[in-house]
Amino acid sequence: MFSAIVIDKNDAGQSVSVQQLDESALPEGDVLIDVAYSTLNYKDGLAITGSSPVVRKFPMVPGIDLAGTVRESNSAEWKAGDKVVLNGWGVGEGHWGGLARVARLKGEWLVPLPSAFTARQAMAIGTAGYTAALCVDALVNAGVTPDQGEVLVTGATGGVGSVAVALLKAAGFTVVAATGKASEGDYLAKLGADSVIDRATLSEKGKALQKERWAGVVDAVGSFTLANACAQTRYGGAVAACGLAQGADFPATVMPFILRGVRLLGVDSVMAPRSLRTKAYERLARDLDAASLEAIATEIALADAPAAAADLIAGKIRGRVVVDVNR
Ligand code: NDP
Repeated sequence: MFSAIVIDKNDAGQSVSVQQLDESALPEGDVLIDVAYSTLNYKDGLAITGSSPVVRKFPMVPGIDLAGTVRESNSAEWKAGDKVVLNGWGVGEGHWGGLARVARLKGEWLVPLPSAFTARQAMAIGTAGYTAALCVDALVNAGVTPDQGEVLVTGATGGVGSVAVALLKAAGFTVVAATGKASEGDYLAKLGADSVIDRATLSEKGKALQKERWAGVVDAVGSFTLANACAQTRYGGAVAACGLAQGADFPATVMPFILRGVRLLGVDSVMAPRSLRTKAYERLARDLDAASLEAIATEIALADAPAAAADLIAGKIRGRVVVDVNR
């Protein structure tokens, strides 16, 4: 038997509880993993609170990320004792996930735990941090360089935003952090923000073309914020769009794209191929120091996950929530 968060649904609605499950109930897969840590991402928050239809099968063990040790393997790639990390692939949505002491997964979904990180640190990064690295890689691959001017990070105190600020600073960029949390200026400065702006300056409908300011943007927010960020991006600049914390809509015009050659780069972490994952983890291992990770992370126990998920969706959480599934 093992402890897990379980989301269930019936005519009365959705319920979330900590349950003792039998290992025989685990879904199919060729690798059995003793989970050490998981984490809460925005998507886990949506799944656990039921505020968006993230879960595709019930009952579901949520948790789109985990780090742990292989106990049994029928995969040629993995053997007992290997330390592994899982990010995405629909785990925690359609296949039981990481908010449990045990998981059974497909070997092809796993990556080795990078030697630079402990299992706990890998979950302080989680899908949010690995997505931030994908966004920074996308901007750099699009030719955005520090000498071209400031880069903007939206949703800056969130999981994606916090790691993006640190990674962009380490890559030599001048970083402007947009946040709704006026009290978090010191936190953002410690991570590497050169200046902070109020997210309200981006969150309402704006003109199709605005004063050119950003060489690049990492946007975790979507909606008017993404539209305004594009309208303020300099000639030839690029905007990496990965999130929808304000909304999934994109109320913009094509003007920045057709008159300024601005590029909009979509970033997906869930189905990203291993080559992109490997490069993202190389950046994280090189550029994200242990002190930044500690500043970003707050640790909770497995049973605390439902309440923390509600706080996350309410925008009350700073940085990343690491879940010690064994306490
Ligand atoms: P968090 O909840 O940790 O952070 C989101 C941040 O967005 C908040 O901290 C807040 O930052 C800001 N925010 C919240 N509500 C609003 C609002 N109404 N208007 C403007 N800003 C707002 O989430 P994550 O960082 O983990 O994820 C961010 C987004 O990225 C989510 O939408 C998530 O679904 C998406 N995502 C996408 C991935 C992909 O593969 N494409 C992978 C991972 C995440 P502040 O208070 O500083 O303003």
